[in-house]
Amino acid sequence: MQAAVSPGHRDYDVIIVGAGVVGAMVARFLSRFALDILWIEKEADVCTGATSANSAVIHGGYDAVPGSLKAEMNVRGNAMWDRLAQELHFSFDRCGTYVVAVGVEERQALEEQAARGQANGVPVEIISGDEMRRREPFVTPETSGALYCPTGGICDPWGATIAAAENAVTNGVTLRRNTRFEDFIWAEVNGRSKRTIAGIRTNQGDFAARWVINAAGVHADTLMHRAGSRPGFKITPRRGEYYVIDRNQFQMDSVLFPVPTKVSKGILVTNTVHGNTIVGPNAEEIEDREDTAVTAPGMHEIWDGAQKLVPSLSQRAIIALFAGLRPGSNAPSPNPAVAYNKDFVIEIAPEVQGLINLAGIESPGLTAAPAIAERAIELLREAGEVLTEKATWNPERPARPVFRHLSRAEQADLVAREPSYGRVICRCEMVTEGEIVAEIHAPIPADTYDAIKRRTWLGTGRCQGAFDMPRVVEILARELGCDPLTVSKKGNSSEFLVRKTKNAG
Ligand SMILES: Cc1cc2nc3c(=O)[nH]c(=O)nc-3n(C[C@H](O)[C@H](O)[C@H](O)COP(=O)(O)OP(=O)(O)OC[C@H]3O[C@@H](n4cnc5c(N)ncnc54)[C@H](O)[C@@H]3O)c2cc1C
Repeated sequence: MQAAVSPGHRDYDVIIVGAGVVGAMVARFLSRFALDILWIEKEADVCTGATSANSAVIHGGYDAVPGSLKAEMNVRGNAMWDRLAQELHFSFDRCGTYVVAVGVEERQALEEQAARGQANGVPVEIISGDEMRRREPFVTPETSGALYCPTGGICDPWGATIAAAENAVTNGVTLRRNTRFEDFIWAEVNGRSKRTIAGIRTNQGDFAARWVINAAGVHADTLMHRAGSRPGFKITPRRGEYYVIDRNQFQMDSVLFPVPTKVSKGILVTNTVHGNTIVGPNAEEIEDREDTAVTAPGMHEIWDGAQKLVPSLSQRAIIALFAGLRPGSNAPSPNPAVAYNKDFVIEIAPEVQGLINLAGIESPGLTAAPAIAERAIELLREAGEVLTEKATWNPERPARPVFRHLSRAEQADLVAREPSYGRVICRCEMVTEGEIVAEIHAPIPADTYDAIKRRTWLGTGRCQGAFDMPRVVEILARELGCDPLTVSKKGNSSEFLVRKTKNAG
């Protein structure tokens, strides 16, 4: 059936659906060209899906099956992170990663990983158990050796995604949050052999475009099926749960993976760019595409897995739990023996005109995201789009002051210029009112509690927001000029306050 785009909306060249790291990198790299781009996200903020809850590892690329799209995107993406971090000003540390073997059998498995790494062109080295213990004193004394990958690293996935998104917006991309893709709009039949996309229908109205880029994470198959593309393709979320360890109780300098299993890369123990250690994830297939609840069996499973690598970890140091959903799929696997190694789907949908699918982007999707964005641009070119670079494109996203990272002298200078930087709102992470206000008025306004948390790291320490939350509600209401009753945790009916009490004014 044909449908017209409702009047009143301007035409776009490209619409991107989904504001995770893949959508953000596509928006940022595509903003370089003279195109009208609309970017939609169903949630109240960018970076709320898989990108908000993962291990934050920039994988070297020794794990993906040689010759697969996943291996190619992993290795190519990995090499792009230094420049991205420099241009966009987010935390990234190319600290190297280890796969730790325990016992003789696992030691042999390292050879297999090393061979894959060499086939993928990734520098890897097998080190002895003694050397591993020398490099990381907390590692299990049972280790029989490790695979070291010097090009692996860790990043701040929230910071990277938000910075890329902000850079896209300042370079002219129109971002609409709280805007849910519902269906495609098709062009009138004009004798072409393929159905042609003319736009999309959303909960906020219709938008016309020649191209739709599907970066919808766990929902990417729904978009594909709406277009009649790959009806047999199915995404099944694979949940991964984590513990966060208080950095004041335990700190470790390494990224430690176990030898992988057939269902996942295994339960790792890793440091983060913020200094906290995280432990996880497990891998459980579930039906519900939004269910990020943690479970008691899952938490036991990951604790046991973590103890295998770092036996001295103590549960008393745990300060938070979280879970993320990998968009696992039934895409063809280059190695059918390994469940988690289904390949990425990065293609122009063959069945229709005007759709690019970036689907089944499970791990290492964070690492691969910038390369996937470049590949999407190559696909547009291959389809005949003439992409003209804008003379005005600015690859830089300026850094904003992070009070806790400044020297005493710099802090004093900043407070003298702007006294709100002298008011500490989050005591555990030392986040000031000035930083919160700057984020509320940033190019992508942080207008919920969680949006401020993702941008400033507030509320992530030992008290998990217990002290800062009422102050943040107050600041949000003041800066947005709204009733505190309407201030929410993450939009979508998650307001903190129910009603005024005691007839307070
Ligand atoms: C437990 C776990 C551990 C991982 N560890 C790593 C790791 O260490 N290193 C690594 O490289 N990768 C890792 N990954 C993989 C990585 O996190 C993902 O590959 C990546 O985040 C996928 O990004 P995305 O943008 O495709 O998806 P998402 O971040 O899920 O973004 C998709 C977005 O689309 C939006 N959306 C969906 N439907 C609609 C609609 N109808 N309308 C509008 N918007 C819509 C969603 O709200 C969401 O914001 C891990 C993943 C998990 C879950």
